[in-house]
Amino acid sequence: MKKEINGKTKIIGIIGKNIENSLSPLIHNQIILKNSLNFCYLPFQVAETNLGKAIQGIKALNIKGVNITFPYKEKAIKFIDEVEESAQRIGAVNTIVNNKGILTGYNTDVIGFKKSLQEDGKFATKGKRAVILGAGGSARAVAYALLEEGIEEVYIFNRTPEKAEKIKQDLSSFFPESSIYVFLLEEENLKNKIERAHLIVNTTSLGMPPKIDYTPLPDEKLFHPDLLVYDLIYHPAKTLFLRQAEKAGAKIINGLPMLVYQGIESFCLWTGLKPEGKEVLKIIKQII
Ligand code: NAP
Repeated sequence: MKKEINGKTKIIGIIGKNIENSLSPLIHNQIILKNSLNFCYLPFQVAETNLGKAIQGIKALNIKGVNITFPYKEKAIKFIDEVEESAQRIGAVNTIVNNKGILTGYNTDVIGFKKSLQEDGKFATKGKRAVILGAGGSARAVAYALLEEGIEEVYIFNRTPEKAEKIKQDLSSFFPESSIYVFLLEEENLKNKIERAHLIVNTTSLGMPPKIDYTPLPDEKLFHPDLLVYDLIYHPAKTLFLRQAEKAGAKIINGLPMLVYQGIESFCLWTGLKPEGKEVLKIIKQII
């Protein structure tokens, strides 16, 4: 946040359910401080029953905009006025901009994920095969990003397969060159697909507090050394999922680079300012 808050300070922030461990306030307030902007980024812990009221409150309190995080990225859509085209296709928003009382939803997770995959994961997506674990709001963004980058096949696994099926229905028509398959998240289904895959992405919340001793993969033997294993979770920095993948010789990446890059895109939508991603990531790594 700015050193001194005054009557002209503009408020931005994050709405989510379990945001005590979120690094977004740190990231945004570091950018604000470094650029001497009169903004302040605040955490708003909101119960699901209050989500609509909280989003309407953005207008009432003249808040400039917010990030929307776990588990509200899909649920938030019905409370906003407009949804940008790609966020509409994805069916999830992680950013809301308040423009003179009109709330518009965007999805900057897509660009955040793509950039982290390319620059930090050194992964070339075109023609590859990927396993996505989970079918919530972030799985939608991850699937969309991979499809836009020309992935050949995507295998989506979820505890509730109907939700994965809905992602397939929503996205297939936009990407006729790629194939999307959906499965129940269980070992037998996973084995054959992980063997064929180049990338596996955990988009479930298993591994984040309070479920830090959990992993979405039923057996660590499913990992192999030719995989890039990506966990969207960044707290803890190395989840059980990533520790097991590393032990199996796979290359790993956590959710911190994505968090920084998507945050910068959101910050730009609110302020017009776009700091360099790598620089911000370096500063945040030095602090935490
Ligand atoms: P979400 O929409 O609530 O989806 C949660 C997913 O986790 C669903 O697929 C859900 O399955 C699955 N899940 C939850 N509990 C489970 C269990 N016990 N067993 C199996 N599956 C389970 O959440 P989200 O917004 O996609 O976020 C998911 C995670 O990604 C969170 O940890 C979030 O912090 C992280 N994330 C990080 C970034 C970043 O920038 N690094 C960006 C976005 C999200 P069901 O459908 O069966 O309920």
